[in-house]
Amino acid sequence: MEVTKKTYQLPALRFGYKDLEPFMSEEQLTLHHTKHHAAYATGANAALDKLEKARKEGTDADQKAIAKELSFNVGGFILHNRFWENLAPVGKGGDSPGGKLGDAIAHEFGSFERFKKEFTQVASSAEGSGWAVLTYCRTIERPMIMQVEKHNVNAMPGFKPLLVLDVWEHAYYVDYRNLRPKYIEAFWNHVDWGTAQKRFDDILNR
Ligand code: MN
Repeated sequence: MEVTKKTYQLPALRFGYKDLEPFMSEEQLTLHHTKHHAAYATGANAALDKLEKARKEGTDADQKAIAKELSFNVGGFILHNRFWENLAPVGKGGDSPGGKLGDAIAHEFGSFERFKKEFTQVASSAEGSGWAVLTYCRTIERPMIMQVEKHNVNAMPGFKPLLVLDVWEHAYYVDYRNLRPKYIEAFWNHVDWGTAQKRFDDILNR
């Protein structure tokens, strides 16, 4: 009997499509989640299908091209999962992190304000499409900020994202047009630090 293999499925959001307004309009969030995020799941599954088909037929697939498609689409899919988990409606997010994550950020950056400034600079300066990602290196026990290009370039292997910000134009263009700095500024009022703190605690306890 053939065993069914799992595929990527678009997860539901933890909030309604209107709940992030005015930071993110219903139109912007709906488009981003149901079209862009969904496309990465579809793209990753299509690449996996190509591999399956070639294996069944005993033919050769274009391994190089498929490996590229996979890293791009899987990276996009996972980063968007993290992104939605990082966001909270007005009044339920913002402020600054507490707990061990708050301590680690203060220790590394000197202050939360300094971290916020550096993360904002990383997000603002991403050329074209990319992400700002707060992550943590377990080897030297220090938080770091990654600037991921597209969804998969400049990523540090094995580092778990704690806080991510999507700065692809599709993330903000409906609401902010070319004003990416305004989108980044508004983002800080919607960060769900509880989720980031929990992810950090999980990393420390692994
Ligand atoms: Mn996106």
